[in-house]
Amino acid sequence: MIQTRSWATSLACSLFLLVLAALAVWSVLPPSPRSADAAADEFSAERAFATVEAIGTEVHPHGTAAAADVRQRIVADLEDLGLDPDVTEGVGMSGRLGDQSRVAATTNVVATIKGTDSTGPVFFVAHYDSAEVSHGANDDGAGVATLLETARALGAGEPLRNDVVLVFTDAEEACLCGAEAFAHADPRAADGGVVVNVEARGSSGPAIMFETSDGNAALVDAYAKVPYPVGSSLAVEVYRILPNDTDFSPFLDDPDGRFTGLNSAYIDGSATYHAPQDTPDRMSLASLQHHGSNALALARELGNGDAAALARPASDDATYFPLPGGVLARYPGWLVWPLAVAAVVAVGALAVVLARRGEVRGERTSAGRLALGFASALVPLVGAVVGSMGLWWLMVAVRPGYGEMLDPWRPWGFRVALLGIVATVLVAWFVGLRRSLGGPALAVGALGWLAVLGVVLAAVTPGGSYLAAIPALAGAVAGLVAVTAAPGTVGRRVAVTVGAGVGVVVLVPIVLLFFPALGLATGAAPAVVAALLGLALAPVLAVLLPRGRRVGLGLVGSCAAVAVGALVVGFVADPFDAEHPEPTRLAYALDADTGTAHWVSDEEDPSDWTAQYVDTETDLSEPFPMFADEVHAGPAEATDLPAPVVDVVDTEPAGDARRLTLRVTPGEGARIGTSDALRYVQLNARGVGSATVAGREVPVDAGALDTRFYAPGADGFEVVLTVPAGQPLDLRVVAAGGGLEELPGFVERPANVGVAGSHTSELVLVGTSVTL
Ligand SMILES: [Zn+2]
Repeated sequence: MIQTRSWATSLACSLFLLVLAALAVWSVLPPSPRSADAAADEFSAERAFATVEAIGTEVHPHGTAAAADVRQRIVADLEDLGLDPDVTEGVGMSGRLGDQSRVAATTNVVATIKGTDSTGPVFFVAHYDSAEVSHGANDDGAGVATLLETARALGAGEPLRNDVVLVFTDAEEACLCGAEAFAHADPRAADGGVVVNVEARGSSGPAIMFETSDGNAALVDAYAKVPYPVGSSLAVEVYRILPNDTDFSPFLDDPDGRFTGLNSAYIDGSATYHAPQDTPDRMSLASLQHHGSNALALARELGNGDAAALARPASDDATYFPLPGGVLARYPGWLVWPLAVAAVVAVGALAVVLARRGEVRGERTSAGRLALGFASALVPLVGAVVGSMGLWWLMVAVRPGYGEMLDPWRPWGFRVALLGIVATVLVAWFVGLRRSLGGPALAVGALGWLAVLGVVLAAVTPGGSYLAAIPALAGAVAGLVAVTAAPGTVGRRVAVTVGAGVGVVVLVPIVLLFFPALGLATGAAPAVVAALLGLALAPVLAVLLPRGRRVGLGLVGSCAAVAVGALVVGFVADPFDAEHPEPTRLAYALDADTGTAHWVSDEEDPSDWTAQYVDTETDLSEPFPMFADEVHAGPAEATDLPAPVVDVVDTEPAGDARRLTLRVTPGEGARIGTSDALRYVQLNARGVGSATVAGREVPVDAGALDTRFYAPGADGFEVVLTVPAGQPLDLRVVAAGGGLEELPGFVERPANVGVAGSHTSELVLVGTSVTL
């Protein structure tokens, strides 16, 4: 009888945790897309998708005719909605001292939905240009479509109090220049405001609110009212270590701090990011619906709020994370430290109680055992890191093309394999040491690391502390209840299960969000969060897992079998083929002065296809400063592609310096590669005092000029430099176009080899030096 009840309780507790895990997964899934006949004041992904199809069928980088077509389409759609769009020309600039400065002439489309009694503008921002080789259906066709369908739905509902300003930016992929030009010079931005940026860095997955301005408490409160809130205060910290930037950055970097805001993107399916495969047919309509449902709700919430107040930072950063049922849990930043300390105190109290008891249901607990339990609980954390690195190493060894990817095309098999590896290590640690240390000591040791991490994170990244502190606190309180208050076996099991359930709800969504955020190439991040989940579950193992050796080994074997099985599935399900090609990066660089040319690749370990062009590692950073010190290169046939031309328009003394006014043109009938526009012209020189490009002063770091002007027309652009009088100026000028197809010696790729989604893919460079 007792045996039966014990098994039934264990089963019920396990089911309870599985249901919680399923609910936690569900809390970060995108909603199902609404059809085209959804109510007029609703956002419909199917309606919005018409825009995606229209603008995502052609590659449309900044400055191309295709980009102009997209712009025309946006203007026409806005006019159809009864709005009065402005097409505004400007010059945008990015780059701080020490960075390369980048300048572009931009053409933004801006339309204002007038409010009834506006307290300030709310800006919705998406970029309409695509990356160089990309169709840009998701990035950022999704953002453009979201803004247009949101505007349509707003028009069908009650008018809002505040002005909602739709900003369709140019040249985001080049240099964030459209957004910068808008923030810098557009009169509608003069008084600042609240910015909502809508982006995509992949083709599927939930639309995550991943970045906020400082002092985000009030804006996070507003975001919590959207129907499908998916965001974590940890994400802001993680985003800072990623190499991505969006249109949101120029607003955040505003020298006068005039803007606050939120930034959202869906990021799974990242193999399409910036790649030719970013096409409408690969877009997840659920992701588009997620963007849209949230953007529309946010427009209504911010549009009826006190926009002037929201445009100032709140005194506090909130901690926030998703809960099941469309709830965004949140608490003020001042609670971070009390919670972290409370977790340490609770785990410490549990350890003291157990040490005093000396024994729990036949398992000994002593201060020594507890100390060893704590020390040994580092094993699952370290094992997760080592396991994730080993998995990626194996994946790249078997399929070298993965080395150029953040994530495989179809990553799920590998993701499950990684979870299987983490589970194997965790269960092996528990089962292996249980005999010598006892379940309670291991469980408290596990909670101890969660508590310690809660404190470390509170000090380093306060927004991430909750991830460890809350599971530690819940687990320790549940442990105290189980040890001191819960009568009998059932009560003990229920208490511990409920405590671990808190960890499941808090941690499962972050495991899922971390997989696409960092990719399997950086699988250590989701693996460590999964290991934290394992540590939070250790008390459950202590009360539910029978002590027999056979059961324990059976569980370890099952986890390992899942890992191996999923790994095999991962490889079998994800071969490179025409639809999912191996990404390659190749460029052509011609020195027009010497008539020498190179094939160049910045692939880390060139693929078989790329290796036919590049055979050595060479330093080309002098003639072609866009390349890092060592790149893979090989000889190429020289062509007569036109070099850029520098004309001195004016030279005049300026104190003890001379001021040179130059016009830089791409050169006679310049068209490099097959694109109808140059990507950029880059200028490098030393001994420069100050520099102005197309009217924007650019930073010059210790005399070193390093600047780019994107997509110059046939007339080129003006550059004004001050240099010491009486000294010659050596200027390196490199024009960059795109498209290798017409170059001599270029052989078309086989079907299962493709073009990588990078800004240097298919690059054609022509460089020349001039002395002035
Ligand atoms: Zn983008």
